[in-house]
Amino acid sequence: MIENVLENVKCINCSSDNYKIVFNSDYSNFKTEEDFLKVYSSSSDQVLYDQLVKCNKCDLSYLNPRVKEDIIMESYSSAEDDTFFSQNPQRIRTFSKSLKKIISKNNITASKDKKVLDIGCAGAAFPKAANDLGFTVTGIEPAKWLANKGRETYKLDIRPGILLDHHFDDKTFDIVTLWDVIEHITDPAQTIIEIKRILKDDGIFVVNYPDIDTWPCKLLGKKWPFYLSVHLFYFTPKTIREYLNKFDFKVETISPYYQTLELGYVLKRAESYFGFFKYFRKAVELLRLDKLPCTYYIGQTLVIARKK
Ligand SMILES: [Zn+2]
Repeated sequence: MIENVLENVKCINCSSDNYKIVFNSDYSNFKTEEDFLKVYSSSSDQVLYDQLVKCNKCDLSYLNPRVKEDIIMESYSSAEDDTFFSQNPQRIRTFSKSLKKIISKNNITASKDKKVLDIGCAGAAFPKAANDLGFTVTGIEPAKWLANKGRETYKLDIRPGILLDHHFDDKTFDIVTLWDVIEHITDPAQTIIEIKRILKDDGIFVVNYPDIDTWPCKLLGKKWPFYLSVHLFYFTPKTIREYLNKFDFKVETISPYYQTLELGYVLKRAESYFGFFKYFRKAVELLRLDKLPCTYYIGQTLVIARKK
């Protein structure tokens, strides 16, 4: 029974368990628990099977019930993904551009005595970009395979595990980042409290998340690519502001985030949602345009917050 691997949760923002259902769950494709867990991995293209609810008290959307926490953690630590890693050159370019913008807007100058921490750094694309700009960088990644691959490829300080496994001194970092990570953490509270402790008083906290209050989400409905079984929370500018505020972070800016990856890869991902992209991708491959950089926006949102 698939129900055996699920658990009920309350709203992480206001602790209420009073909600309305946005999407019903659909586990009809899965005959066994094993079937279900097989598709459950952090870089999975699988659409949302779980029930999505919206809190009646604070409007936060979240999966409920959802896969049990220990199963989620195990699936992350054992994830391996070569296709994902192959896109790193494009990711590094995007991160480099974004980081330059972020530091110039926030009057930060890159130097070796400025420390950056990237939590959930995947294949270390952001640590690589930050290192190349002149920062001293540490990355943390639960997927052991990705952490090793990132460390060996770029010779950087990339540590396996989650933030709470590592003990950093108070006020160590100038910049702490969570790129597409907050929606994966089963209870982000402990992580955010720890970030506040290790961030310098004038440091910035960068959070990038998929926003359900954006036009791509509204337009695509349940076919929005960020509706995934591994995305446990669906923030909006209102709910992310409220949530970070609870931990004494003040949100300074919220803006759309444009991502650049290779056209062939973007179309291949799009194919799992809309079959007709297959023909487009084949044409692009014939024309040898599949390696072309493709900049797209599907609702990723960038938050800059500071300690109050
Ligand atoms: Zn709530």
